[in-house]
Amino acid sequence: MACAEFPFHVPSLEELAGVLQNGLQENFADAQVSVVDCPDLTKEPFTFPAKGICGKTRIAEVGGVPYLMPLVNKKKVYDVNKIAKEIRLPGAFILGAGAGPFQTLGFNSEFMPVIQTEGAHTPPVNGSYFARVNPADGGCLLEKYSEKHQDYGCALLANLFASEGQPGKVIEVKAKRRTGKLNFVTCMRETLEKHYGDKPIGMGGTFLVQKGKVKAHIMPAEFSSCPLNSDEDVNKWLQFYEMQGPLVCLPVFVSKDPGFDLRLEHTHFFSHHGNGGHYHYDTTPDTVEYLGYFSPAEFLFRIDQPKETHSIGRD
Ligand SMILES: [Zn+2]
Repeated sequence: MACAEFPFHVPSLEELAGVLQNGLQENFADAQVSVVDCPDLTKEPFTFPAKGICGKTRIAEVGGVPYLMPLVNKKKVYDVNKIAKEIRLPGAFILGAGAGPFQTLGFNSEFMPVIQTEGAHTPPVNGSYFARVNPADGGCLLEKYSEKHQDYGCALLANLFASEGQPGKVIEVKAKRRTGKLNFVTCMRETLEKHYGDKPIGMGGTFLVQKGKVKAHIMPAEFSSCPLNSDEDVNKWLQFYEMQGPLVCLPVFVSKDPGFDLRLEHTHFFSHHGNGGHYHYDTTPDTVEYLGYFSPAEFLFRIDQPKETHSIGRD
């Protein structure tokens, strides 16, 4: 499979924390960014199979929206253990946002990869979730992938943050009461773009929506049989929801596309109360509270980049 590699600009954590502090305080009434030891992510509410998000950090963008629309390309199926090898990090701990493995599930869904991939001496652990539109009532059905399935598949498109899953220093971001128009991730991404310009920064990790609600979507279980040719078509096809915190979010973002047709930000989330999906923005600016842990990525890997592209469905 075609795979391109690009080194990100990697400033010190202290420098990044200072830059993000300046940007976030323009969009939130209360913002505090600091460099801390990563909390143990195997604990609640994260419950990840790895303790941290440090060591040999990478972002992988696999496939893309052009494999989902105008019409689905059902040849585009992937295996996360193989992706870990492609990015030269077998045994990587991988978090992110993508499309659920329809090849196993038999239907389309939102995928929240949380995967300790197969290492030379360690078995893989699949802590992923998927969210589907409930066929009974149109609501959200969130399930842990490994409860019914043994594979490590994903499909069509994925934005992944990979690391050795080690503890270590990370950037902690606390932001409360949104006063600006930008969502939490877009605010951080645009802040980095403004500061670093043509030197792309990639970041990933996890954040909690501790209080408040978010606007989210879930793709329908059936792929569209008529071509989705505009954002309007896409928005009619998607199912939108307002979902209540606390939510565990899996963000991946890149400040500037160095020419690989990237989706610049993509965040999916799960929860322990049955809500999960694709994060758009919080709908409760006066009460929202975010707490996040982020690492900068050292390398970008672009896997199976679509040759024919378009700009619809990237929100
Ligand atoms: Zn998504």
